[in-house]
Amino acid sequence: MSEMNELFYKNPYLASFDAVVTSCETVKKGYEITLSDTCFYPEGGGQPADLGTLNGISVLDVQRKKDDTIVHLTASPFEIGSTVHGEIDWHHRFSLMQNHSGEHIVSGLIHKKFGYDNVGYHMSDVITLDLSGPLTWDELMEIERETNQVIWDNRPINILYPSDAEIEKMDYRSKKELCGTIRLVEIPEADLCACCGTHVYRTGEIGLVKFLSMINYKGGVRIEMVAGDLALKDYDKKLNSNQVIQRLLCLKPDEIADGVKKILDESQKKDLKIAAINKKYNELKIASLPDDREILIDFEDDLNGIELRKFCDSLKNSGKASVCAVFCVSEAYPGNELPPISYCIGSTGPDLKKVSKALNDAFNGRGGGSSEMIQGTFYTDREKLETEFSTVLKEILP
Ligand SMILES: [Zn+2]
Repeated sequence: MSEMNELFYKNPYLASFDAVVTSCETVKKGYEITLSDTCFYPEGGGQPADLGTLNGISVLDVQRKKDDTIVHLTASPFEIGSTVHGEIDWHHRFSLMQNHSGEHIVSGLIHKKFGYDNVGYHMSDVITLDLSGPLTWDELMEIERETNQVIWDNRPINILYPSDAEIEKMDYRSKKELCGTIRLVEIPEADLCACCGTHVYRTGEIGLVKFLSMINYKGGVRIEMVAGDLALKDYDKKLNSNQVIQRLLCLKPDEIADGVKKILDESQKKDLKIAAINKKYNELKIASLPDDREILIDFEDDLNGIELRKFCDSLKNSGKASVCAVFCVSEAYPGNELPPISYCIGSTGPDLKKVSKALNDAFNGRGGGSSEMIQGTFYTDREKLETEFSTVLKEILP
């Protein structure tokens, strides 16, 4: 053990302390400070490091070194021998305690019921839990009910330091990341696990555990869960988003799913109707175009790339001309004198691949395609295309 007093083990609820600076080393990211006492928990056992301040200066990270020393990373140096006042971000720490204790109940109950191990564990805005065997969503929901029952029973969470003789007889869960003396966290009739993290005194403080998702992962499952403060934040976020959807769609709270499905069905019907109208329009438009030209030019409004290509393809297949060029002028936008003009050119005769580059050069554009069809954008004005396109194309055609 280091000589530093690890106050977070003596009292995990202690949020401020005074200590003497015992060393201050310059490192790449700032200064590593060691203290006579600390309630800053160093990252370990799946639990992130505490946040907070020393004399008002932010503690950026807290790590346990190989020799067991706990170092506090700061941006400013501290004088060795001076006294500092430390404060941890209690809200952050308590949330970690709620979530860590919640995870123990979940892992313990799953281990009891299915024999699976917790093989990966990560705490951030959500808790990610990897289990060594498969589960169904219904089985997971049953675990969620049992976990919350343990929470509402308000059972004590006991920290045990068993002797070697005692530990021989004990059946406890153990993860890879063990640090120092064997420290067991016991939640009666739910879990017994070796752990170096900080925990709440009673399960009731966890408040709630909620599973968010489950996917198959490396022969087992990866579960996302939230507890305590994180569960409340998650509830808030989802409620706010539901309320926005409700207001936008004029739905009652329990009608959202059905209401959205109805709107999507209606939207799909509209899409089909629009497609049928477009088809009809294309047929009529193509019929109205002259069929005595070698090169046919047509301007259309408001077509996206796919619609433009479809229209050009129908026009080409109609046999009206051996080269059909369809243009669509984008709305002019501020600061751009020449709005982009999308083009799609189809040919049943000449090889368009051979003229693509020359056309782009002539009308300041880019794009390309096959021998039968090229597509792209010209940055020129409509008038120039109307008056010069046919002449330019004829000159460059092979
Ligand atoms: Zn733990």
